[in-house]
Amino acid sequence: MLTERATALDAADPLAHVRDRFLLPDGVTYLDGNSLGALPAAVPAVIEDAVRRQWGTDLIRSWNGNGWWEAPLRTGDTLGRLIGAAPGQVVVGDSTSVQLFNTLVAAARLRPDRRLLLTDPDHFPTDQYIADSVGRMLDLEVRRVPAREAAAVLAAEGANVAVAAYAPVDYRTGELYDMAALTEAAHAAGAVMHWDLCHAAGALPVELDAIAADFAVGCGYKYLSGGPGAPAFAYVAQRHQQDFDQPITGWHGHAEPFAMSGTYTPGPGISRARISTPPLLSLLALEAALTAFDGVEMKDVRAKGISLTGFFQECVDTLLDGLGFTMATPRDPAHRGSQVALRHAEAYPLVAALTARGVIGDMRAPDLLRFGFNPLYVSHADVLHAVRELHDIVTSGAHRTPEFTQRPTVT
Ligand SMILES: *Cc1c(COP(=O)(O)O)cnc(C)c1O
Repeated sequence: MLTERATALDAADPLAHVRDRFLLPDGVTYLDGNSLGALPAAVPAVIEDAVRRQWGTDLIRSWNGNGWWEAPLRTGDTLGRLIGAAPGQVVVGDSTSVQLFNTLVAAARLRPDRRLLLTDPDHFPTDQYIADSVGRMLDLEVRRVPAREAAAVLAAEGANVAVAAYAPVDYRTGELYDMAALTEAAHAAGAVMHWDLCHAAGALPVELDAIAADFAVGCGYKYLSGGPGAPAFAYVAQRHQQDFDQPITGWHGHAEPFAMSGTYTPGPGISRARISTPPLLSLLALEAALTAFDGVEMKDVRAKGISLTGFFQECVDTLLDGLGFTMATPRDPAHRGSQVALRHAEAYPLVAALTARGVIGDMRAPDLLRFGFNPLYVSHADVLHAVRELHDIVTSGAHRTPEFTQRPTVT
């Protein structure tokens, strides 16, 4: 019954052919593309060329001759299509944490008379740590308000809120929040809205321009599959660019970087959001990775993401009932991103035993098994296989051996 459903769903999948744009090893069911995306087939040749020809032969001439200088904004425009940003508003470079710091400070500087920074107590740790640091630097009170309560707090005491910093998708549970509604609530209070799109960009449609978003950042290495340590992106809405005052005034954001002036004059438009020399090999890898989205509509990505996560939940209900699992992710597709998390007291050894069988997800302490479903390369057959393996492990007790109970550094 489930086998037939998986086969039928995969046969009707308009994105099925896109899986060939990725190099996935045989025997691996990859459900961790929300932590490190799979390798796009276009990347190795681009890296080979970037290293041997561009770096090895063309050397310093590559800044002009091979388009290295324009790469952060060129790739930003390409990426912008996936997050609903018209050209000229996205820059790529540095890590998410750096981009976060840079844009959070710039956002707060737009509201110098306000003293509150709202953020989510369930936000990813780096986002909370950096919010706290920005609070100390700019003398702001950082208040942790859960995403689902933020609109009410903004309505009640929003007049003192400078910035609201949230993620549309909870990185642990996969819960999806209404970006348009929260952005509107922030604006109604006169606050600046800051979005972290790490678990949304490339996974579901994000309409930054349409919802009048102010600032956003996000990872290049999760659903965008840019590779380990891929540079992150920052979005600065066009209407804020004139007043965008970033704290990391690196020389690449200067109006005339090669005038080598001793004082900073920000460049025009989104170019002022550049910081400094980007990791070019990684940036070119990300640019090549984004070709996996060529001709792909984000509405189709979303439809398949809902189908994969919904089918996973259905398989769990059918095959894992009574085996100690609870569903941590909402069942309403309107409140669910492209990942599903299950709670189980033995989450860590279960994930380790699954990995040993080639089914790769991850766990988040203390008790979450987390599975990410990248609609570009995961199939319904993968979903069913993963749940069947989990059923086999938990019923046989295969996870209760020492090899699966000891933890490595990265979980
Ligand atoms: C993955 C993730 C990060 C990672 O930040 P790095 O600077 O790339 O280490 C930050 N924030 C969120 C919400 C994430 O999901």
